[in-house]
This record gives sequence, C-alpha cells and structure tokens, in this order.
Amino acid sequence: MKKLISILIPCYNESASLPLLIPKLEHIANKYSHYNWEFLCVNDGSKDNTLEVLRELRGKYSRLNYIDLSRNYGKETAMLAGFDYVKGDCMVIMDADLQHPPHVIPQMLEKWQEGYDDIYASRITRGKESWLRKKLSLFYYNILQRTTRLEVLPNVGDFRLLDRSCIEALKKMRENNRYTKGMFCYIGYKKTHVAFETEDRIAGESSMNYKTLFNLAIEGILSYTTVPLRIATIVGCVTSLLAFVYMLVIFIRTILFGDPVEGYPTMIIVILSLGGIQLLALGILGEYLGRVFTETKNRPVYFVRTYNDEKI
Ligand code: UDP
Ligand code: MG
Repeated sequence: MKKLISILIPCYNESASLPLLIPKLEHIANKYSHYNWEFLCVNDGSKDNTLEVLRELRGKYSRLNYIDLSRNYGKETAMLAGFDYVKGDCMVIMDADLQHPPHVIPQMLEKWQEGYDDIYASRITRGKESWLRKKLSLFYYNILQRTTRLEVLPNVGDFRLLDRSCIEALKKMRENNRYTKGMFCYIGYKKTHVAFETEDRIAGESSMNYKTLFNLAIEGILSYTTVPLRIATIVGCVTSLLAFVYMLVIFIRTILFGDPVEGYPTMIIVILSLGGIQLLALGILGEYLGRVFTETKNRPVYFVRTYNDEKI
C-alpha cells in the first residue's frame, strides 16, 4: 500500500501565490510517485478571490482539496481545521507564499522514513525581515525559554512534517486561544530537523504586522507558562517585606524622635509604586482569567462552510 502524504496550506488572501505554489507541489508529487499525495488548502475567510482560484486549480490538479472556513479565524485556527481534515499518514504544514521552499519536503520524507515523527525545518536565514523584527523575535524566544521546562526552538516556524500519531495528538488540543508552536513542543514525540533558507514572500502581502505578532507573542507566554503569576506573587512578597521593614523603621524613629509631619515625597512614591505593582498583578491575573473565560464557553474553535464546495 502506498502511503499518503498530505500537504496542509493555510491560505488568507493568497490568490496570487497559490497558482505558483500548487504546480511546484504537483511536480514533487509526480517525482515521488511511490507515495500518494493530497494538498489541502484551508481558505481562512480570504477577502480576495482565493476560493475561486482554488476551485480553478482543483479542475487542473485533482490532488487538491480545499476547505472554506466560515470567516477569518487566523492561521493558528486554520491549521487546526487542517489537522481535522487531512487524510495522510503524515502531513507537511507550509505557508502558501513560497517562503517555505517545497524542495525541502523530500528531505523531510527521508527523515520520516527513518522513523522520526516530527521533522521541523529550521531557518538558516530569516529572509527579508526588518532588523527590529529579527532582534525582537530572538529576545522573545530567549525570555520564553527561561520561563518554561519545555524546549523552545528559535528560528523554527510551522514548516514541518508530522506523523499521523502527532496529528492525532494535536487534534485533541482544542483550546480557543491557540499557540500551535508551543503545542508541537508539548506533544513531544521523536523530533529532528532539516535546515532551510527562508525565501521572500512571492506575491501578496504578509498579514502578520507588529500588532498580530505582539498578540501572538503574548498568547505564547500565557498559553505556555504561568510564570507571570509566580512573578506577581514574588514581587508582592518582596514589596510586603520591604513595607514591613520600613514600617519598623518609621515606628522606631517616631518613638525615638517624635512625629514631625514630613516625608510627603516618600509617601507619594510609596503609594504610586505600590499602586502600580498592584495594577500590574491584577492585569496579569485578568489576562489568565480572560482565557479561562473563553475556554469555559467551550465553543467549537471554527466552523467549516464547505469542503470542495460541498456543504457539510
Ligand atoms: N494565514 C492564514 N490566516 C490568517 C493569516 C495568515 O491562514 O489570518 C496564512 C497565510 O495565508 C500564509 C501563512 O498563514 O499561508 C503565513 O502568513 P504570512 O505569510 O502572512 O505570515 P509571515 O510569513 O509574514 O509570518
Ligand atoms: Mg509569509
């Protein structure tokens, strides 16, 4: 029996890139025909004519299937939809914009045949990204790594091959606030990597601006670790201790030297800094509580409008 390889491609406004990507994948599929191949595109509520493009492409390439989500949910959720619908014995996740070069896929398959379950592609270069984005990204991974027991891999994105066992594991993680990169680490399994050079986006525009990236970064920390809560506790303990010491100092000073009314600046500083710390701690609590709130609603993470244009 030939094994089935699925390629999962989340797509948001990718009408320009898809006609370039799919023929490349088709080429690989024809070359490695001792496998069966499926390309699954998840149309994540695109605002352009991505759906029509997919329809046209399916006319030409019968290996292509597509899911149309009911609205734009974001890449993380689009990937979950893909996990649910891929049929393959393994799956390769890749971006539609050819930043993830398809020629790496055969190398991944080799490793898969060697018995690895999760083969991630690590970037040697990060392509055309601003200096600030690169630096911020490295700084962020550094911090994230310090707060968790799981291994955090910088320069590793979602471009990877996952065995069916990993797909089944990921399907069980159905939280609404998703940070898939953390999930790959969480599930474990036998991992290895292949190196690749990030290419520049071939067409269309990146939908990840600093705001989305910032939100994803916060999501990463909050869904990965509860260390911020611990920090709030520690800061609280330390300030309480300092306050106690200060109280003793004032108490003794008042007994020894009386109580002249002074120290207004000290008062203000103490009040303001304590107030600030309290608000910060409350904010952190709130962030976690907000997530508990959305998760307890237990809503389906996404809705599918059609699969290959058929209602389901
Ligand atoms: N994407 C998606 N839903 C979104 C935003 C992006 O499915 O809401 C897809 C997009 O089509 C692409 C991949 O996620 O295939 C990566 O997006 P992008 O290239 O914009 O991000 P970057 O490479 O700049 O991080
Ligand atoms: Mg991209």
